Amino acid sequence: MKITFLGGAETVTGSKFLVASGDTRVLIDCGLFQGYKWLRERNWETPSLDIDRLDAIVLTHAHLDHSGYLPVMYRKGYRGPVYCHDGTVALCGVLLPDSGHLQEEDARYYTRHRIGRHAHPEPLYDRACAEQCLSLLRAVPFDQPFRVGSLQLQLQRAGHILGAGSVIVEGEGKRVGFSGDVGRPDDIFMRPPDPLPPLDLLMLESTYGDRRHDPTDPFDQLAEVVNETARRGGVLLIPSFAVGRAQVLQHMLAKLIDDGRIPKLPIFLDSPMAIDVTEIYWQFHAEHRLSRDECQRLGRRVQQVKSVEASQALADQAFPHIIIAGSGMVTGGRILHHLKRLLPEPKTSVLLCGYQAGGTRGAKLEQGAEVVRIHGEWIPNRANIRMIEGLSGHADYVQMGAWLARSQLQPSTQIKLVHGEPEALEGMRDYLRQTTPFDVSVAGYRHILTLD
Ligand SMILES: [Zn+2]
Repeated sequence: MKITFLGGAETVTGSKFLVASGDTRVLIDCGLFQGYKWLRERNWETPSLDIDRLDAIVLTHAHLDHSGYLPVMYRKGYRGPVYCHDGTVALCGVLLPDSGHLQEEDARYYTRHRIGRHAHPEPLYDRACAEQCLSLLRAVPFDQPFRVGSLQLQLQRAGHILGAGSVIVEGEGKRVGFSGDVGRPDDIFMRPPDPLPPLDLLMLESTYGDRRHDPTDPFDQLAEVVNETARRGGVLLIPSFAVGRAQVLQHMLAKLIDDGRIPKLPIFLDSPMAIDVTEIYWQFHAEHRLSRDECQRLGRRVQQVKSVEASQALADQAFPHIIIAGSGMVTGGRILHHLKRLLPEPKTSVLLCGYQAGGTRGAKLEQGAEVVRIHGEWIPNRANIRMIEGLSGHADYVQMGAWLARSQLQPSTQIKLVHGEPEALEGMRDYLRQTTPFDVSVAGYRHILTLD
């Protein structure tokens, strides 16, 4: 069996691993490179895989750094099956068309400002192409083996987000695992990852290879910010990612109200995409820790704001109240309009609840910027900027070690570290070398590993 690391190696984005055994070829994950320009450029290079000879694609989960290259494969002529959990099928139905829409907007922006590689840059793919590629998705349940050529494959629960799984591949008498993104055992919302079976080789994600999660209870942090804002009679703005984060925030706010820890303020979910994703999460309630009743109760606590008019009308809403809106790093979305209106107001609180990548408005707010540029205007920032740390969907390195210890790996298992920034990959390697018997090393981009 041969594994080629075409992405998600030496970086966190662009996950793509080609497994070849005899005549059978399967691509595990089909992710978009994101972030720095030199990484995004890789989306335009032709990856070294022969689409005509590819038998199947398997997705670990719906995040774009694992699924967002699928429309490119479709555009290049791939028409084979794409296997994933049905939660992933549903989430891709929202995320991929949105990604196509954003690619079109970016291309228009670059054309208008005459920057970038071509005089008339094309989008990587458009919304229509992203919608067409959804027809290739085939749902497979967790723990049910399926065959592709000479290989047997299986998905098993990995926590992280709805539908997320690890992939187990068997062929030539060997068993190989791809962890995918691995959730936390103590996640507020998602169920813990299932232990792995005995494996000859494991590709292990290392996002939190050099960091531990903040031990402060995120419920305490959230309650404090809400109560402060309520006392001042202001608005609490929460920029949020649409998948996972927006749902856990709604759940936490509703629980804090039910437990009498915060006042019963109006809560608005002002993001059509987060509303769609929330409905998918409630539909798949067996996949997370909330029961159907809890989902319904939560639906009564949170008001969904769908139309642009209803979003604009929030400006007339009496204080105090809470608005959850995209995007999570304040790079776009409806949160921008609310920030433009409310950042100059000292009664406002802004709660950043996740990693803010360098260069984003979210990072500038986190660093205490006194003015922020929104839609070409410089907006003074007099608001209270707060952070909540404990909502990450990834296991940290100690939790990862504990997951491996709960698994049935043999001392002879070889581990290749993927999906991490260089410091995180080194941190995870050093930690696992010290605490486990496994042969641990960092996978190289475009390297080929032969297992015999
Ligand atoms: Zn992910």
